Amino acid sequence: MALEIIESCVNCWACEPLCPSKAIHEAKPHFLIDPDKCTECAGDFEDPQCATICPIEGAILNEDGNAMNPPGSLTGIPLQKLAA
Ligand code: SF4
Ligand code: SF4
Repeated sequence: MALEIIESCVNCWACEPLCPSKAIHEAKPHFLIDPDKCTECAGDFEDPQCATICPIEGAILNEDGNAMNPPGSLTGIPLQKLAA
């Protein structure tokens, strides 16, 4: 049970201080989540704090590989509009 940060992370530092499990660390080329430490915030917060603060759609995935903040979820711009 762990989230994953992928390459679209822009290394903004927003998530790192919020993690109750100290599972997030700076790395190159992007921040990483230690899967052995991430609890998905269970027992500490109702929502995964890193995904709640992350400003980049698609930068954090759930354990199924799906974006916690899918395209359009933060900008409100549906994908088809971006493609147009
Ligand atoms: S889901 Fe919670 S425990 Fe896991 S990395 Fe994000 S903030 Fe840390
Ligand atoms: S909040 Fe998102 S973009 Fe910022 S460091 Fe964390 S994962 Fe990367």
